Amino acid sequence: MKKFLLFGIVAVMGYGNISAGVMPATDADFDSWKVRFIEHMWEIYPAWASSVGYHKYDNLLIIPDETSRSHELDFCKQQMDSLHRFKIENLSPGNKIDYHLIENQLKYASWNIKELKAWQWDASMYNVSGSVAEILAGNYQPLDQRLQSIKARLELIPAYYDAAKQNLVNMTAEHGLLAAEQTKGGMSVFSDELEAAIQKSGLSPEEKKEIHSLSVQAVASMAEFAAWAQQFSGASTHDFRLGEELYNRKFEFEIQSGYTAEEIVRIADVRKRDLHKKMTQLTLQLWPVHMKGITMPQDYLTATRMLIDKLSEDHVAPGDFQSAIEKQIPDLVKFIEKKNLLYLDPSKPLVVRKEPAYMAGVAGASINAPGPYDKNGNTYYNVGSLDGWEKEKAESYLREYNKYILQILNIHEAIPGHYTQLVYANKVPDIVKSVLGNNAMIEGWAVYTELMMLENGYDGDKGVNSKEASPEMWLMYYKWNLRSVCNTILDYSVHVKGMTENEAIGFLTREAFQQEAEARGKWRRVSVTQVQLCCYFTGFTEICNLRDEVKRKQGKAFDLKKFHEQFLSYGSAPVKYIREMMLSK
Ligand code: ZN
Ligand code: ZN
Repeated sequence: MKKFLLFGIVAVMGYGNISAGVMPATDADFDSWKVRFIEHMWEIYPAWASSVGYHKYDNLLIIPDETSRSHELDFCKQQMDSLHRFKIENLSPGNKIDYHLIENQLKYASWNIKELKAWQWDASMYNVSGSVAEILAGNYQPLDQRLQSIKARLELIPAYYDAAKQNLVNMTAEHGLLAAEQTKGGMSVFSDELEAAIQKSGLSPEEKKEIHSLSVQAVASMAEFAAWAQQFSGASTHDFRLGEELYNRKFEFEIQSGYTAEEIVRIADVRKRDLHKKMTQLTLQLWPVHMKGITMPQDYLTATRMLIDKLSEDHVAPGDFQSAIEKQIPDLVKFIEKKNLLYLDPSKPLVVRKEPAYMAGVAGASINAPGPYDKNGNTYYNVGSLDGWEKEKAESYLREYNKYILQILNIHEAIPGHYTQLVYANKVPDIVKSVLGNNAMIEGWAVYTELMMLENGYDGDKGVNSKEASPEMWLMYYKWNLRSVCNTILDYSVHVKGMTENEAIGFLTREAFQQEAEARGKWRRVSVTQVQLCCYFTGFTEICNLRDEVKRKQGKAFDLKKFHEQFLSYGSAPVKYIREMMLSK
């Protein structure tokens, strides 16, 4: 009886508080505290929970109003107090990282509500279709049961969008337009996919009818919200730029780097100049091969640009885009095995699919991996389709993702980039590092593997025995790497220094050699995201630095395969913490 009561009190007042007066000291205490912390976190963030494969709260939809925000703030405060009862110096290295990650998450979440206030200006954060699509596509429960969860969410969708409209007192035009587009795209989840699932289900005719009419009501709310966002975006005067103070704070929370934003931008600037120099040398070498009879311009950036444009003509036909990607995946696997670069788990299949409509509008290709609770789920490689694109637009896109860049894209997104990293991350038994994963580590790893594959000779044309990538491949790689370098410079320049759209397009097309279409797309992205564009280069820089440090320390004993596997074995933790662990061994 006593035990039961105690249990009840813990559940009511404080999610994993250790009873008062007892100083929790051991790693075992911390381990069980973490489990309770995450469990409660999912109740606060049910959509996030569904997306990582935790389905207990599938039937919850949080109405984004004052009540839920103050509930979230209470949660952050209580959990922070509870966390601070542990002395970090008494914890194991792995738990120290988790302590930092949880502390960062809690601070970030309350800063978001109180200072950043994206809920007042970012209309695109209100989106109900993504998590419903995931529940529909999941195979973790019988369809009928999943439909019951969806039904519970459907009932709340009108209230959800009402609250969203109330919140958006400072909506930016850019986020308004994005929200309109994504919300319209997501409506097909309810009208097509959900309808098909209802028909397929074993529910009674009455239940089917009920879900159907709730789904019609949901689509109507979404259409209304989309029209509202579109209309008000025209009248918006709120600048999407964060400004220095908010930007620097967001950088700290999101990137969790050993560098400040300003420092990494300075490093990016040095790297940019170094890449320009390397590319000039390759241009001098390759000009006579590819540009016979054409006078090389005096201006090296212009000459390099011309050569890149020429090499970009080598690309697949629009209809072959997806199949070309599919064909390369097994070649990458063979190369990595042959060169002994890292272990790849053959039991985890990768499925290439057309990008779902609700994801449209931001990136061209991306990975959807099963979350930490969903280890047997499919990993999807979402590829944006060129169906219905105007000829000119498709041509520009395909030149951007030409023969060379398409290979690098596959390395980055799939193998041994994101896909491989996430397979490793899912093996880490510790849930905190998986769910509070660090984007700079994740993107940094993908960007690092591009360089690493080329250093080891990867070049699709040359097969698995290739010893050296061609100078053409290197030139195009440098161009690609310049993209993450310039992403960093761009993001900071736009959000902190007030760079304009024209300046940004000029910068990206001239100094990063981008096609007009990509530069426009990047502008769109920088106007609806903040800091995220810095994670690529920051993570890359920190991983390259770490590899150098480990090499120096181990000398002849350094083994690249071991370095990679050890690096990936900690889960998606910030590189600065992985560094501490790897160097302390
Ligand atoms: Zn062409
Ligand atoms: Zn990436």
